[in-house]
Amino acid sequence: MSDCIFCKIAAGEIPARKCYEDDLVVAFHDIHPLRPTHVLVIPRKHIASLAHVDAGDESVLGRMLSVAQKLAAENGSGDGFRCIINTGRVGGQEVPHLHLHILGGPEPVGPMVAKI
Ligand code: 5GP
Ligand code: ZN
Repeated sequence: MSDCIFCKIAAGEIPARKCYEDDLVVAFHDIHPLRPTHVLVIPRKHIASLAHVDAGDESVLGRMLSVAQKLAAENGSGDGFRCIINTGRVGGQEVPHLHLHILGGPEPVGPMVAKI
């Protein structure tokens, strides 16, 4: 998608602190980190959200998870981490290109969701 910020990061058209890329996914540090480790993993191709995937996306979804452990360890969170995929309005998704947040250490990330 031509006006998608994460597509532009994946294509190298706007800068980001990339820490991993392969044929299916790209990972980079969140511009506003919420924890000492805060890495985003995205599919190279534009997928708007987890609500927009189909069975043909299983390989890229699997790759996003399978690189998470490696990226967490390499980026200072080898002793555990949390993965979050915010989805749509109710899920609080702000950037409409599927992304997996990896949040971590060295201290515990904290409660799973804030009380409302
Ligand atoms: P969401 O709320 O959609 O799950 O999370 C979007 C995340 O993308 C936020 O944590 C935000 O800080 C991050 N983000 C938004 N724009 C940029 C950008 O241009 N570069 C980087 N590295 N992160 C971004
Ligand atoms: Zn996109």
